Amino acid sequence: MSRIFSGIQPSGELHVGNYLGAVRNWVELQQRHESIFCIVDYHAITVPYAPEDLRRRTREMAVSLLAAGLDPARCTLFVQSMVPEHTELAWIFNSVTPLGELERQTQFKDKATRQESVLAGLLNYPILQAADILCYRADQVPVGEDQVQHLELSREIARRWNARFGRPTGAIGEDGGEVREAFFPEPEALLTPTRRIMGLDGQAKMSKSLNNTIGLLEPGDSIWAKLRPAVTDPARVRRTDPGTPEICNIFQLHKAFNPSETVALVAENCRGAKWGCIDCKKVLHEGIERELVPIRRRAAEIAREPERVSDALVDGARRARDLAAATVQEAKERMGLA
Ligand code: SF4
Repeated sequence: MSRIFSGIQPSGELHVGNYLGAVRNWVELQQRHESIFCIVDYHAITVPYAPEDLRRRTREMAVSLLAAGLDPARCTLFVQSMVPEHTELAWIFNSVTPLGELERQTQFKDKATRQESVLAGLLNYPILQAADILCYRADQVPVGEDQVQHLELSREIARRWNARFGRPTGAIGEDGGEVREAFFPEPEALLTPTRRIMGLDGQAKMSKSLNNTIGLLEPGDSIWAKLRPAVTDPARVRRTDPGTPEICNIFQLHKAFNPSETVALVAENCRGAKWGCIDCKKVLHEGIERELVPIRRRAAEIAREPERVSDALVDGARRARDLAAATVQEAKERMGLA
């Protein structure tokens, strides 16, 4: 059984964008893989933040993940700062990563241009990300398309470390050089099936900072209040105007929440102006409710027994630490460290 690792920012309660873009897939994957999922609070401190707010957001994320269906009996779920081996291995990887590789990362360039003073942590972020994955010598990493470049750097870091510190295998490679063991596997991307979800404004990726989200635990009537005015195909001014479903964000959400027969009907009714956008959104709302009602029910159960969250995280961190400590110890031995 292959081992997968994935992390998520402690951004508070999940919204439908990060549920569809990552977490729904994790719930599936935990059935088939040895799965390790981490709330990456060390990554969250590379930008300005308030400590109490971070604590609250971390907790809310854990509740959302458990409510969404991550099962501590099937996967290992923990908070990054509870497993110090992540930062220890990140320091080790600092010693094999060229600065130029970090400066070329698109996410760093994007974020750095928006800040007056850039913290070193923002530059080194992909090294910690490599350590997150390689602490567990994970084979596969479920990622969205925007994370593929960071994963490529993790693979490069694994290659560089192995070439320097992997034990000689005795074999000679095609280039005439000595072949060394791949102590750290080069993790493969497992692309998340759902493409990125746009916000209800139809303008940008769903994001709390843009206030265009549907919360995963939001009550049904509140979701409807947001869906009703949500942006659709601007060509549909009157009910009798035909539309183009492919350019409408509501149609993309139908594809995520409704079965294929419903999606086909939505496309037909839109193109043929057989219904209005409000009718279309009502059918979407039903699909969303079908999926989110059980999640809200689980969240309510967790709220009645809040210690379940802490217990799950402590137990997850203990299991994660057993694995990570063994990896780091072996890596240190090969590097001549104590
Ligand atoms: S009918 Fe549905 S898919 Fe078509 S434009 Fe309106 S909301 Fe979008």
